[in-house]
Amino acid sequence: MTAPTPEVANQSSDLVDYNLFTTNPALVDALAREGSASDHDRIAALGERLGSAEMFALGETANRHPPILKLFDRFGARRDEVEFHPAWHELMRRLVGEGLHTGPWSEPASAAHVARAAGYMLWAEIENGTQCPATMTYGAVPTLARQPEDFGEWLPLLLSREYDPRFTAARDKKGALMGMGMTEKQGGSDVRSNTTRAVPAAARGPGLEYRLTGHKWFFSAPMCDAFLVLAQAPGGLSCFFVPRFLPDRTVNTLLLQRLKDKLGNHSNASSEVVFEDTYGLLVGEEGRGVQTILEMGVFTRFDNAIASAGLMRQCAAQAIHHARQRKAFGRLLVDQPLMRNVLADLALECESHIALVMRLARAFDAQEDESETLLRRVLTPVAKYWVCKRAPVVIAETMEVLGGNGYIEEGPIARRFREAPLNSIWEGSGNIMCLDVLRAFAREPRTREVLSVLLSGSKGRDACYDRFVDTLLVELGDATDGEMRARYLTQKIALAVQAAVLLAHGPESSAQAFLASRLTAGAPAAFGTLSAGVDSGAMIDRILRF
Ligand SMILES: Cc1cc2nc3c(=O)[nH]c(=O)nc-3n(C[C@H](O)[C@H](O)[C@H](O)COP(=O)(O)OP(=O)(O)OC[C@H]3O[C@@H](n4cnc5c(N)ncnc54)[C@H](O)[C@@H]3O)c2cc1C
Repeated sequence: MTAPTPEVANQSSDLVDYNLFTTNPALVDALAREGSASDHDRIAALGERLGSAEMFALGETANRHPPILKLFDRFGARRDEVEFHPAWHELMRRLVGEGLHTGPWSEPASAAHVARAAGYMLWAEIENGTQCPATMTYGAVPTLARQPEDFGEWLPLLLSREYDPRFTAARDKKGALMGMGMTEKQGGSDVRSNTTRAVPAAARGPGLEYRLTGHKWFFSAPMCDAFLVLAQAPGGLSCFFVPRFLPDRTVNTLLLQRLKDKLGNHSNASSEVVFEDTYGLLVGEEGRGVQTILEMGVFTRFDNAIASAGLMRQCAAQAIHHARQRKAFGRLLVDQPLMRNVLADLALECESHIALVMRLARAFDAQEDESETLLRRVLTPVAKYWVCKRAPVVIAETMEVLGGNGYIEEGPIARRFREAPLNSIWEGSGNIMCLDVLRAFAREPRTREVLSVLLSGSKGRDACYDRFVDTLLVELGDATDGEMRARYLTQKIALAVQAAVLLAHGPESSAQAFLASRLTAGAPAAFGTLSAGVDSGAMIDRILRF
């Protein structure tokens, strides 16, 4: 006999079946501000679909049933395949069907990247493993499009809205996805240390066949249809297009070794792979592999920042929702001043990241403008560094708002907390981003001027902001001890751009609180340290309003 279940009291309800977009005024305003107001209804419809209980359940299920490596068939022949739970396939089907992977390339528009950024941020609230192949496909398209004579037939497949998981030659499929292989055992950031060799099959040159021998230590989403892979060719480190199947429809030699046992990102497969006389086609020129693959890196790094902003928003929304329903000491948590401070601080943090990411998205859309090109160049590593770096600390605090329930795997935060550090590590870890920020200023001196113009647009409203910007611009002009100061400067640029957007566009209460808490006091190590006079209710409503 089990004891009768006592009445369940004072537990908050599941936060599901709500519109992820319209309940997020910070994102609604950012979408309009950055030029995509006409997409409001489309993104609102997407937010409604993604916020369903079914979507939340699919995200949980896909992460509770990690993919399984199938190296051999039952007769001992190599398979080198990965089997996924049906929930993964369903999520992928919906993600691709919404065009969230390559929408801006299949349907170019003046604010296509802004609209996609908003939609992709909403997807990040639901599930992050699926974003790995989607992001790599988004990033690969512009690189392949430069060589239409060699890769043109792949483009319609990458732009397709049909997810086709069959393990078969891409030419027989309705849609295809891309991965990438750079990281080797002896070095990931320092890709020039790559040892994988590429030997020309006959003549050398772009689009021609080479044979690759070596390995990759991290090789995510190995069920993708093709990969951009770095290898040492006779002319130096080069980028290769490595399809899963050969032109004659037989399987290419990608010998999967094992799947990584990861902290989080459990729905997605990350493998180790060996190449043995593996077929690949040269992308770009021999010796220009880093430049070629970094074209893809610009987009994947942007996506890392988008995804971290989405992750933080979902966790902050869960915290706010819980505090609105849970009582302690006779009062709702949300009505207790100290908790209001914590929630408002978390909401402010989310608002600032949404502002930075969406401003950067505008730069992706305005590449015909030289200033925006320079802004994109510098703000991509800035946003990748700062937004991704803040996710673990923000999400840890949201977990605490839920108390013990926050730490339980059945709840919404635990999985997202394990996910949180990843965006900061892959696609260029924190230090690499900060070194890239220095490089952006060193290579193109006009970058400082363009940043100055952006920041100066918000001057004259607040003395603290004006001083912060003036000091930053002086500091950026001094290259002494650049590497030692790289994190300091990158963080300051992020805070300055976030402040600039909030000051120019409001809301006023958030802008003032941000200036006082971030520019004067520095980014808080723990949340809940806003000054007593702030309009905490307004700030909280910016991140979850019904
Ligand atoms: C789940 C997961 C999936 C992944 N999937 C892929 C994939 O599909 N394809 C792929 O190619 N890679 C993938 N990676 C690899 C990832 O991109 C690398 O791990 C990352 O780039 C860091 O490389 P590393 O691990 O070799 O570390 P290192 O390069 O050894 O770096 C270690 C630390 O040193 C720092 N560092 C390096 N150089 C400097 C310097 N000059 N100054 C100061 N600090 C420095 C780095 O910032 C980092 O903090 C994946 C990683 C993970 C965790």
